[in-house]
Amino acid sequence: MALRNKFVAGNWKMHLSVAEGVALVTELRALLDGVAGVRVAVAPAFTAIHPVADALRGSLVEIGGQNVHWEKQGAFTGEVSPEMLVEAGATCAIVGHSERRQLFGETDEGVRKRARAALDAGLTPIVCVGETLAERDAGRTLEVVGAQVRAGLEGFDANDLAKLAIAYEPVWAIGTGRTATSAQAQEVHAAIRAILRELVGDAADCVPIQYGGSVKPENAAELMAQPDVDGALVGGASLSAASFAAIVRAA
Ligand code: PGA
Repeated sequence: MALRNKFVAGNWKMHLSVAEGVALVTELRALLDGVAGVRVAVAPAFTAIHPVADALRGSLVEIGGQNVHWEKQGAFTGEVSPEMLVEAGATCAIVGHSERRQLFGETDEGVRKRARAALDAGLTPIVCVGETLAERDAGRTLEVVGAQVRAGLEGFDANDLAKLAIAYEPVWAIGTGRTATSAQAQEVHAAIRAILRELVGDAADCVPIQYGGSVKPENAAELMAQPDVDGALVGGASLSAASFAAIVRAA
């Protein structure tokens, strides 16, 4: 099952100034000295990507955007293109985070276009999916997550999937301190993997599927020990170098 490396990413959301971000990653790279065999990234605010990338030069830790647009350039006020992210030092980009979907009206179609454009620019898209509490309580988790996966990856082939990651983030677990149990996470991750297998066959085994939602040093090892949980997308706990490093070491 060593078909895919673990992939742990920190989503800083709208936190940390440039100075704070640079200080955090300076501490982080020292804490992760000697770690190998796991892919690690942090996603700062757009304004901090370039200086944080400079501070990480030569380290194992990569940089990601928290979002990315699909156009290369043009009259799209407030958006950032994949090429701009690459120039600033990014190697990956989160797309379709539930906060983008819920607060900023992003659709499955937009998620697909963002993921496609990120791939075309050489970035690893981290495609986020997840159900709300009402959807889980109604027994619709696999239906909702399955529909997001199918719509977000429509038209993608095995070659594309080899270069992207998926993050399963139950909305009710994000920032709430309430984590999915490892069994709940594994159930959904296995269902996502089954859909990927339908889409691209055995190449499905190469796609890292991260879990996100109140991941902490205390629960990270158990979650990531599940056969289809291939890492984590970490919000709150990525704002501390010590916590984030502990999660990476648990992978
Ligand atoms: P959290 O956020 O770890 O603070 O729950 C996860 C995310 O939104 O990616």
